[in-house]
Amino acid sequence: MTQQEVNVTALADGVAAGDRRSLARAITLVESTRADHRAAAEALLERLMPSTGNAIRVGISGVPGVGKSTFIENFGKQVTEKGHKLAVLAVDPSSKRSGGSILGDKTRMEELSRNRSAFIRPSPAGVTLGGVARRTREAMLVCEAAGFDVILVETVGVGQSETAVAEMTDMFLLLLLPGGGDELQGLKKGIVELADMILVNKADGALIETAKRSVAEYTSALRMLRPASPNWTVPVLPCSAHTGDGIGEAWQKIEAFRDALGNSGEIARRRSAQALDWLWTEVGEGLIAALKAHPDIVADLPEVERKVADGVLPPTIAARRLISLFARA
Ligand code: GDP
Repeated sequence: MTQQEVNVTALADGVAAGDRRSLARAITLVESTRADHRAAAEALLERLMPSTGNAIRVGISGVPGVGKSTFIENFGKQVTEKGHKLAVLAVDPSSKRSGGSILGDKTRMEELSRNRSAFIRPSPAGVTLGGVARRTREAMLVCEAAGFDVILVETVGVGQSETAVAEMTDMFLLLLLPGGGDELQGLKKGIVELADMILVNKADGALIETAKRSVAEYTSALRMLRPASPNWTVPVLPCSAHTGDGIGEAWQKIEAFRDALGNSGEIARRRSAQALDWLWTEVGEGLIAALKAHPDIVADLPEVERKVADGVLPPTIAARRLISLFARA
């Protein structure tokens, strides 16, 4: 895509008309780091902004092997049959375009990828979690403008990415395996507290009884936590991504969540807070990049960093000096 090729008006019209090629091109554009693409992407996003915000944004996480892609496949089938349009995005900072990304593997969600009411987009290849998260947020807006009314943002159940996903969605779903506590499942501390709904997957065959026990255990463990919302009690439900049992109930809970927190204004408040956080993250990252690249500062930086690393100069003093140099420049 060269600058001449990016006709922002045509692209915005294509997205608004729900044209899949335009949607894919628009997302490629917002993922690009090239300066001319960035300018076009910003123009596009400004145009699309008034038609965003109409989807329920759902984050989903769970350790590798818990059944996320199988769940999304089945969930996608059920919600699209109800007439919804589902976009599946991903936040996977480890992903490379060459493979290994959580949604990059074509064999995952094979059926859903052929479904005309669904759109699946792998994680953008990015170095930092921040970079990946920014592009996923923007891709989410593009999908909303294209008329998708359910957005699922999947993440791998390791590292910092769950927090990033919880910070860009309305509701956070955690998939757990039957049996075994948090540590056994390799979950990071605090992840269970992020959840607005817990699903104990693989509640089928020989695992049904274990799954029921896990549901009871997590239900009582959650009673100890202070509820994040006065209007919502975190449900713990068994499900089977294989048989589809429990997935309809999970969708009903998502609708109930949207109604309860939508009516109380909490979703709107959550989104405003998320947008403001995003603003200040962008400002912070932009300022740091500009400071590090500034000609008056660039030459002194290695010396300043060395002094801080060697314990000769306190970081607070070094930071203040760098900031005042930058402010004067
Ligand atoms: P992901 O890594 O979290 O995306 O997990 P996958 O969806 O790839 O599933 C991992 C394995 O668990 C696969 O072999 C699936 O067939 C299996 N699996 C997924 N969901 C279920 C389920 O509901 N019941 C059973 N018995 N197996 C499942």
